[in-house]
Amino acid sequence: MTPDTETIITLHNLLLAEYGEPEPPRRDPVATLVLTILSQNTNDRNRDRAYERLRARFPTWEAVRDAPEAALVEAIRPAGLAPTKAPRIQNALRRITAERGAVTLDFLDSMSVEEGRAWLTSIPGVGPKTAAIVLLFALGKPAFPVDTHVHRVTRRLGLIPERTSREKAHRLLEALIPPEIYYPFHINLIEHGRAVCRARRPECERCVLREHCAQTVRPR
Ligand code: SF4
Repeated sequence: MTPDTETIITLHNLLLAEYGEPEPPRRDPVATLVLTILSQNTNDRNRDRAYERLRARFPTWEAVRDAPEAALVEAIRPAGLAPTKAPRIQNALRRITAERGAVTLDFLDSMSVEEGRAWLTSIPGVGPKTAAIVLLFALGKPAFPVDTHVHRVTRRLGLIPERTSREKAHRLLEALIPPEIYYPFHINLIEHGRAVCRARRPECERCVLREHCAQTVRPR
């Protein structure tokens, strides 16, 4: 049975009581896009180290775009997968420049969520999660990003069917969750996935959501 809005709000309030109101996001769409590409398959600390090195060595997005690829790979090395992420970042910045004449994503503000999502995911290496993060975090658009933690926790809670793919989960959760709580709910689900509802051995006995969870711990 699909959970109702009241259940979602109850879960949201329990997470707010546990983890608090998240810090407001950064409001620069290009920076958000680059940070999200850097964050693929790494933790926040390594992502942030790579981003700081990148900005220190290449202070403008034009400089990042036009840098020798090897120099960019070296700058973002702390994020891991640098030989993949560096060309991905440069290709995205070149694509933006080619289409808009400058390195800016501010034009997305005047697009609908669906238009913005379509535009962003047409960039190679930008999937539904990255697009949703740019749209929600940097532009305040109603898109709900689903990372590995959100995907796992929402399946365990029974908000989406167990076999739902991460890609499909974006649409299902967007339809289910009230848009005004997308940002804090997303952030706090990640917190919960890291702290309690971990991939291995979730700590259900101390989980603030346990009374509303569709699943007890499965034997693993
Ligand atoms: S009760 Fe267990 S499975 Fe359910 S959300 Fe909490 S930690 Fe995750």
